[in-house]
Amino acid sequence: MKSNSNKPMAKVYFKSVKQGATASEIAACNLELIMKLEPFSKIKAKDFVAIKMHFGDINNIGHIKPESVKLLADAIKAKKARPFLVETSTLYVGERSNAYDHINIAYKHGFTYEKTGAPIIMADGLLGHSQTAVKINGKHSKEIFVASDVAHYDFLICLNHVTGHMITGVGAAIKNLGMGLAARGGKLSQHSGALPSINEKKCVKCGRCQMFCPAGAISPGEAAFKIDSAKCIGCGECIAICKKEAVKFSWKQTSKIVQEKMAEHALGVISGKSEHLLLTNHIIHVTKECDCAAEADPRVIDDIGILASTDPVALDKASVDIVKKIHGYPFDYESKNPLNPMFQLEHGQKIGLGTMNYELIEV
Ligand code: SF4
Ligand code: SF4
Repeated sequence: MKSNSNKPMAKVYFKSVKQGATASEIAACNLELIMKLEPFSKIKAKDFVAIKMHFGDINNIGHIKPESVKLLADAIKAKKARPFLVETSTLYVGERSNAYDHINIAYKHGFTYEKTGAPIIMADGLLGHSQTAVKINGKHSKEIFVASDVAHYDFLICLNHVTGHMITGVGAAIKNLGMGLAARGGKLSQHSGALPSINEKKCVKCGRCQMFCPAGAISPGEAAFKIDSAKCIGCGECIAICKKEAVKFSWKQTSKIVQEKMAEHALGVISGKSEHLLLTNHIIHVTKECDCAAEADPRVIDDIGILASTDPVALDKASVDIVKKIHGYPFDYESKNPLNPMFQLEHGQKIGLGTMNYELIEV
């Protein structure tokens, strides 16, 4: 595990979870690992402790469950601190594109105050427009836009569900930070390197993509609907909406850019917080796509366990490595054209988000 990073080797804790473990067993494992991370001991009375996860889109079943939040929130409250759940609105039109609808989905998935002991406070306001600019020294950006409330958190705890991802190859800690806590302007900037096109042979001209396109970039053409690349914001909504799989991204060209931008946004999110950051990666119910998929996707590999670290790059690298070691490479979206999740890790290391150089400590 040789690295170019100037950062010292990061500690990554790992505990296995057996297939079929209950939500309570998974919650206990999650808390045990978080308590091993040094920043946990620094949480004190009245601190605002944000818990970032993904509530899952409508019908999604793979997301981390409320039990993991409850146990964690209780442990934070025992320190007389103030835990709460945080999320942001999606860029694309859908069930999570504003705070009201998003919170209702969270409730449907069991993230009520009664079940978690933590209120939900959306970090980017009602419509996802509340943002703060953060200066970074990135390759793609010198200034990025994060959800405005992020600046006010005393501690940030991210519970990340490790999944495949149709643009970034893998979705884990870097994605939960970089995409998950970016404001709409930040998400737009990350997606704008990835423009789709419509396959004329597959398009049946149903018009659904035009109806859902938030940018008004799609219109009927002669042989098929067409996308105006000058208007397209690269949100990917048309890919999800098209039932004929007629909309495609140019994966090889764009995945690297999206991943690098995502790492740069993650850097902006943790800016000034690196000593107050705690992360766990759940390699449980791993699905081909992330929890933004509005479907009950099946697991694609057997459950492995949970990893924890204060370093998002080390944590994601260890997660990719452990899955590869146990199961082979599962994160390819299309077997003919697998996506390489290493771009986000390599770029993350290069810009100082973390290090790929880690020590795995089995618990
Ligand atoms: S949703 Fe798909 S099939 Fe329908 S018009 Fe758009 S690209 Fe064509
Ligand atoms: S054409 Fe562009 S803006 Fe419109 S839905 Fe597709 S990706 Fe989003």
